[in-house]
Amino acid sequence: METQATEIQAWIDARSEEMAALLIRLVAEDTENPPGRGLGQCAAILHEAMDRLGLSPETVAVPPSNALEEPCVVLGSVGNGPKLVYFHGHFDVVPVQDRAQFRAERKEGRIIGRGTADMKGGIVSMLYGAAAARELDLLGDGRIDIHLVCDEETGSVAGSGYLREHGLIESSALAMVTAEPSSGSIWNAARGAVSLRVSLRGKEAHVGQANLGVNAFQQMLHVAGPLEDYAREMMERHTGFSMDPNDPRGSMVVVGGMSGSGSNFNVVPGSAWFSVDSRFNPEEDIEVELHRMRQIINEAADKIDADVTIDVTQFQPSAGTEATHAAARLLAASIEEITDTPARFEMCAGVLDVRWYAQLGIPAFGYGAGRLDVSHGPREYIDEAAMRTCAAVYADYARRLLA
Ligand SMILES: [Zn+2]
Repeated sequence: METQATEIQAWIDARSEEMAALLIRLVAEDTENPPGRGLGQCAAILHEAMDRLGLSPETVAVPPSNALEEPCVVLGSVGNGPKLVYFHGHFDVVPVQDRAQFRAERKEGRIIGRGTADMKGGIVSMLYGAAAARELDLLGDGRIDIHLVCDEETGSVAGSGYLREHGLIESSALAMVTAEPSSGSIWNAARGAVSLRVSLRGKEAHVGQANLGVNAFQQMLHVAGPLEDYAREMMERHTGFSMDPNDPRGSMVVVGGMSGSGSNFNVVPGSAWFSVDSRFNPEEDIEVELHRMRQIINEAADKIDADVTIDVTQFQPSAGTEATHAAARLLAASIEEITDTPARFEMCAGVLDVRWYAQLGIPAFGYGAGRLDVSHGPREYIDEAAMRTCAAVYADYARRLLA
């Protein structure tokens, strides 16, 4: 056992220069999402690297969606037994603070640049982990399927959604891991999201004849109030999953993150709208919560005889795999052996691509070398040694799962 971990780490470490070079090349491809630029070009680099590593790449164009440029998924596979584990990643990045972030800087054991942590560095770990598993003959009775998607930062409907819809995710898989920047923790749960746009229609009238108007802004205040009460109630409903102690344990609801009304200061507003954005713990049923929010809004509107419309702009289920699940225990065991530190399980405060797999009953985890606190920021970086350690964990995890 011990020797196997050492052998894996040595194989990975011998490739430190090519791993760094690949990451620097990937960072240089501007894949800002939104809008979702340069996705085809970045996919071509991944395809070429996977080909070189013997990962049998296939790039599949997916239907156009929003402003995504050449949206596609890059698939790969090693091994050919029936047991299956998914390695998943996304190659879009959040917008930069400065264009210089696309020129990666390599210094003091770190690579600094947009997407190094979230999660082009994670993808490099996965590709080299899969290649090590193949080369060192660790795939036993199974295979690793690689899924790289292009639009995680805007909901993943084009990429992961496409895989789900086209039956490209096998529910019999033993596990799925996505290389999100979990700072070395295992994210075994993630919140679900429901976003609404609530619109009210009144009647415009000039201030001189204000008595003839129906003030949609006033109506909006009336409808938003009870939602605030609901938000306070949900904040007290705490999750049973472990969490970063700095993160709130309740479900979070933001009322009025965006809002607007009227056409001019001297006119009774004939229309008004506001947003509601919520992140529900895995213990909550989001269908039930959506129904409750609708009820609260409709009841408040009925009381004042207001004309209200509710549009659901986002609906993403939560996901959770117990830390005691066999697939979770094996991942913890790999981390403990390779890193020599105890594995930590945490719920991710945000929404994760694990949901597309977890919904099919697949144990699904976020685990990556990137640090969450620098992701999306101006000095985003990845520690090169952590990127290699993580690659070794992926290879060892495949070995344990597929044995
Ligand atoms: Zn990410």
